[in-house]
Amino acid sequence: MDISPQTLRKPSKPMVNGFDPSRLDELPEHLQESIRRRDRSLGPGYRLFYETPVEVVRGQGTKLFDSDGNEYLDVYNNVPCVGHAHPRVVAAVHEQMQKLNTNTRYVQESILDYSEQLLATFPAELGHIMYTCTGSEANDLAMRVAKYATGNQGIIVTSGAYHGLTAEVSSFSPSLGVGVPLGPNVRVITPPDSLRYGREGSLEDHLRDQVRAAIADLHRHGVGLAAFIADSIFSSDGIFADPAGFLRPIIEEVHAAGGLYIADEVQPGFARTGEAWWGFQRHGIVPDIVTMGKPMGNGIPIAAAVFKPELLVEFGKNIRYFNTFGGNSVAIAAAQAVLDVIREESLMENSLKVGGKILTELKQMTRGLEQVAEVRGSGLFVGVDMVTDRATLTPDGDTASGIVNALRDQRILISASGAQGNVLKLRPPMPFSLDDADRLLEALDGAFRSLR
Ligand code: PMP
Repeated sequence: MDISPQTLRKPSKPMVNGFDPSRLDELPEHLQESIRRRDRSLGPGYRLFYETPVEVVRGQGTKLFDSDGNEYLDVYNNVPCVGHAHPRVVAAVHEQMQKLNTNTRYVQESILDYSEQLLATFPAELGHIMYTCTGSEANDLAMRVAKYATGNQGIIVTSGAYHGLTAEVSSFSPSLGVGVPLGPNVRVITPPDSLRYGREGSLEDHLRDQVRAAIADLHRHGVGLAAFIADSIFSSDGIFADPAGFLRPIIEEVHAAGGLYIADEVQPGFARTGEAWWGFQRHGIVPDIVTMGKPMGNGIPIAAAVFKPELLVEFGKNIRYFNTFGGNSVAIAAAQAVLDVIREESLMENSLKVGGKILTELKQMTRGLEQVAEVRGSGLFVGVDMVTDRATLTPDGDTASGIVNALRDQRILISASGAQGNVLKLRPPMPFSLDDADRLLEALDGAFRSLR
């Protein structure tokens, strides 16, 4: 691959479901002005969603509202996991803000209560938690610990992975494109796509071969394996949940090579997949490190990494850890409220029930439809793999984008993922109701009918 400075300066491929700024003139006048104003102050690095970007002023539960009071059904945002503006989270943050907001260098009971409750959701082997503000920071810390504990530098990721934005973490986030070079010690493997790699022989064999080759290549370059890191639902790779257990052979190979397994739960974590608190649990494996973020505080910045305690013995003795905002009193209050609401409102059960209905009905609806290769996912994390035809399975990002924007015009917000942007991505706040699901399914039915 050409990685000359000229190549690195070329624009990476456009963001999936990104607004195309060259079409600004086609938008309504007031939206054009807001976007120009945005560009003037925020500069050129930011992106907007949809062919006609959405301007929001308010959120409530599973709905978003624009300045004209129009209601949008939110089928995309996993950060407000217990619903937009949930009163319990709002009250918890408000009360804590009035009382105290300080850092982890003081003894405070709330962080201890929360940590004990959260750690109890993990397998017993995982016993320590360290707090950060973002998922990127959590992955950065996890990789630092993995390198320290193993004495190795090599990293294996899937080819469409996103793990974050720091200099280190972006170097193992291939989905950022050619403008962000991978680190010299990073190797990529294919995602666990059973449709495309599970046809001849088993998917497990394919993945085992991939990981073995990556480890051998690292060794050939004199590099040992520090860690394999994977998003447990493979969100940016195109959403892969089944067959359950497909990660097991990879982890066996990784451990045999002296490396660690880091489960990135920023996307599937906090009960979204409906069957368990954490996405890795459906694969029957125990990670060495788990990272989490986005939904943890329903929008208040809080993220974390959870470790097998033995990994932190030397690291903790020799390296001081302090994060000014990570795990402060207000962030913990928000996180505690989220944990309580997930339990009290049975949101894991709701994910399974409503997500199950969406999966089942989408499978029925798309049966025999040449452009849908597969409907897959777990709980309220559903992907629809759009292709030109079922024989070649050629990813069809244009059709996916057409559906995303057709739904947006009906004020139903979904998006797409996968390397070619061809997988419709449905990932709503977790109180998504059966009525919400009906509204979504009706709109998708209309979109699929127009393809027949
Ligand atoms: N890991 C995964 C799987 C993610 O999807 C993201 C964010 N999209 C991150 C890590 C980074 O999290 P943050 O944006 O909070 O830094």
